[in-house]
Amino acid sequence: MFRSATLRLTVWYTIIIMAVSLVFSTALYIISRGQLESSLRRQWLRRIDQRLNIVVQPNDISADLTEGSARLLNYLLEFNLIILALSVFASYKLARHTLEPIEEAHTAQARFTADASHELRTPLTAMKAEIEVALRDKKLTIKEARELLNSNLEEVSKLELLSNALLKLAQTNRDTIALRQTNALEVVSGAVERVKKQAQLHSISIKNDVRNIKFVGDSTSLTELFVVLLDNAIKYSPEKSVVTVTCRKSGGCVAISVEDKGAGIPAKDLPNIFDRFYRVDNSRSKLKTEGYGLGLSIAKKVADLHGGSIEVTSTVGKGSVFTVKLPIEQKK
Ligand code: ADP
Repeated sequence: MFRSATLRLTVWYTIIIMAVSLVFSTALYIISRGQLESSLRRQWLRRIDQRLNIVVQPNDISADLTEGSARLLNYLLEFNLIILALSVFASYKLARHTLEPIEEAHTAQARFTADASHELRTPLTAMKAEIEVALRDKKLTIKEARELLNSNLEEVSKLELLSNALLKLAQTNRDTIALRQTNALEVVSGAVERVKKQAQLHSISIKNDVRNIKFVGDSTSLTELFVVLLDNAIKYSPEKSVVTVTCRKSGGCVAISVEDKGAGIPAKDLPNIFDRFYRVDNSRSKLKTEGYGLGLSIAKKVADLHGGSIEVTSTVGKGSVFTVKLPIEQKK
């Protein structure tokens, strides 16, 4: 699809360049021919030998004019052939340059749709298979039916989790955010409040050392960002450990760090963890956690919308530090 679009665009760019070149060449030809004619006339007039009283007929210059015009036409033809060759090359490059970002976005969208469909299909297939087997079993007991319903409920919860994550991703996929004065303490406290129950469930304590640093941002989406980071810190940490949130001013930014003493992330996975649907294989650390690999891509999108960034340092077996840097003032 993009190959033929590139070729079509190349042809159109070439036609436009050649049309401009031909219009200029024609104008140049007409003007130059007129000037050539008047200059030939002047030359002939100067050569008239007054003494012999030769009268020059206009026909006498026509041979020179035809020869000069033919030479001019030749130059213009060669010039246009060179322009044609150069414009085909330049048009192809320009067409590639124009279509490349669209092609990349299209490929990313197709990959995302395929990944999302795959994630949606897995629990649905499991549920369908279980229900079919149960329906075929004429001697299905109440106990077995309950087990089946429990298992189905688990799959439905997974689907709910995925649809929530997809919805959040769609919400962050806009280009603007509602900016207002907010502060680091308000944003982080809101996020801590939302993960408190989950932390208690895993006997993990959250140490909130964030100060009241004011900055301009969208507190709702930023709270969402810190929910993702805190949720991960809890999910990937052993029971009874501590998750610490700190903040400081750094240049024109407020830098907020979430530190855990959990499983850590292997160096080879670090460049990919912000990609959609990317999950680190935690089989070796025996961590079985729920998730679809969408949290960090949502967090990164929120940071990007603020003109900020997320950095991560991590050591396997020791823990991770995620640092979010956000500009204190937003550029108008
Ligand atoms: P998930 O829903 O799988 O947690 P994320 O996008 O939030 O998706 O994270 C991507 C992957 O990065 C996770 O699967 C996990 O392996 C790794 N990860 C993220 N945060 C941490 C952390 N604090 N400690 C260890 N691993 C982490």
